[in-house]
Amino acid sequence: MGKKPWKLHGRKTPYTERGIKKLPCFRCGNPAAHQWQICSDGRLFRPVCGSCDFGLNMLVLNFMRDPDMDAKIKKYSDILKKAPNAQ
Ligand SMILES: [Zn+2]
Repeated sequence: MGKKPWKLHGRKTPYTERGIKKLPCFRCGNPAAHQWQICSDGRLFRPVCGSCDFGLNMLVLNFMRDPDMDAKIKKYSDILKKAPNAQ
């Protein structure tokens, strides 16, 4: 994978709701709406867009073998359809 053409933002404290929307998604470069933090990444908060946030949610629920995955994804999908930038 080559270097991404946008800046990869990340910081130790959470971004504000306004601040996150001014940054590119860590994964795809589209405008961010959410933030994610994982231990192996220095616990930095990383901006992600709505689409990538949804993908991460599905990935994690699937990996955790959450017995209610389908219902949770459906509920989150409905929330995002009403308010795409909802946290
Ligand atoms: Zn994205």
